[in-house]
Amino acid sequence: MPARFQRPTIIFRTIAFVAIVCVSLVAIDAWNSWSARSVQLRQMGVATSNLARAMAQQADDTIKAADTALIGIVERVEYDGTGPVAIARLRRLMAMRLAELSQLDGLHVYDANGDWVANTRPATVPNLNNADREYFIFHRTHEDRGPHIGVPVKSRTTGKLLIPVSRRINHGDGSFAGVALATIDIDFLMNFYNSLEIGQAGAVVLVTESGVMMTRRPYTTAMVGKSMLDTELFRQYSSRGPVGEAYITSAQDGVTRLNSFRRLAHYPLFVAAALSKDEILATWWRDTLWHSGGVIFLVMVVAFVGWRLIKQIELRTRTEAELVRARDALESLNKTLNKLAMQDGLTGLANRRQFDLTLDSEFSRAMRNASTLALILIDVDRFKQYNDVYGHAAGDECLQTICRTIRELTPSRPGDLAARYGGEEIAVLLPNTDVAGAVAVAEKIRNAIRELEIVHSGNAGGFVTLSAGVDALIPVSGFDQPTELIQAADKALYTAKAGGRNRVCASRETTPL
Ligand code: GH3
Ligand code: MG
Ligand code: MG
Repeated sequence: MPARFQRPTIIFRTIAFVAIVCVSLVAIDAWNSWSARSVQLRQMGVATSNLARAMAQQADDTIKAADTALIGIVERVEYDGTGPVAIARLRRLMAMRLAELSQLDGLHVYDANGDWVANTRPATVPNLNNADREYFIFHRTHEDRGPHIGVPVKSRTTGKLLIPVSRRINHGDGSFAGVALATIDIDFLMNFYNSLEIGQAGAVVLVTESGVMMTRRPYTTAMVGKSMLDTELFRQYSSRGPVGEAYITSAQDGVTRLNSFRRLAHYPLFVAAALSKDEILATWWRDTLWHSGGVIFLVMVVAFVGWRLIKQIELRTRTEAELVRARDALESLNKTLNKLAMQDGLTGLANRRQFDLTLDSEFSRAMRNASTLALILIDVDRFKQYNDVYGHAAGDECLQTICRTIRELTPSRPGDLAARYGGEEIAVLLPNTDVAGAVAVAEKIRNAIRELEIVHSGNAGGFVTLSAGVDALIPVSGFDQPTELIQAADKALYTAKAGGRNRVCASRETTPL
């Protein structure tokens, strides 16, 4: 058989409820905080990506403007040549371009030997040779007519750090005729980078695809022109570019940053914007700490209230159990009291009160059922003398013995009752019993007492005997009364006494009524 399902106790259910509430509160808050963190990190991704996009656009525009100026200059030199008139016109054009484009530090034209042909410098600057510069060597050795962006250089005249953008100038036959150069002031880029909101630990960088750093924020002069080939950022860009993002923990400061990198649309350069993960999550952390504090407080309140509730339930359960115990004790006490109230103290038989009540109820029942109700009235013979001879205590003892014997001999059907009627008089009520039956019971009792052979010198025969009067009737409503039954039995008892005692007499015939 399967084990019977036991309903959990109210305390168990309360504990389960409080536990579920507490766990749910913590779980919901944890889930909320985790979602908020994901949102924050997603926003961080969008922010770095937007920064990279803006930087790439700005760098591209800056170089494009310089390169457009170079295209005009190259075309002019190749078409007009380098005669004095042409050079004068060229200088004017270059001055106009320089005035227009604030990112430019200068514009220069060098001949095939690297000597200065025209530039935007003041006339006081002495002419120098630039044949040793990287861009010059590049164009002399490459026929490529596209723009070339060189590694950052320090201006020989102003000491500024500049990004060179250059194009090759050809003779009519396609041979190398010189170089047109535009130098972009790194400060122009830095002004823009410094205006970006990247926090305390954020960083931005502009790098060539060959791995040379153009500039960065935070800015240090020493970093400009350094190789980035060995950096994680460059590796990530090389494997995942031209657009992407990566979490990189810096080897220098140990800060983990989200890096968004993006290649410039028209030039072999890329930019990267990096925001510190800790910095981005700082607000989230603060919010989460507040939440968690609130939730912990709430959980403590719920747990405390739950604990108090459980204590109250325990107290109530205990009180209820005590009440039940007290009620049971009271009921049992009541039963005992009731029994005592209905019992005779000396003999243990029913007392007169119970006899009267039972007689009334059995009389009514017999009336309703038209059944016979019999009564035996017993009186000890010469008992007064017994007391006189053997003492009252011995009389009590004798009475107890007689009553015990009567109880043992009385039928124990429902409604049968042996009661102490008076001093040494005992009444036996027998429902559904006719006179003959009652006489038989009375005879049995009388014989049994006689056979006990309790010595009684004052009685005829020398032993305790008793006399009994019997009556029985089928009560008729409105005609018979219970007292009539008593009176008739009493009358029969009197007859027994008068007839010599130690005998049973019936007030009516023993033949069926
Ligand atoms: P008889 O009935 O044979 O006519 O004579 P009797 O001496 O028994 O007379 P009666 O029935 O009138 O006397 C009752 C006596 O029973 C009176 C009292 O001394 C004695 N008696 C009644 N109740 C008790 C009792 O509880 N204990 C003792 N020891 N004696 C009792
Ligand atoms: Mg008597
Ligand atoms: Mg008597």
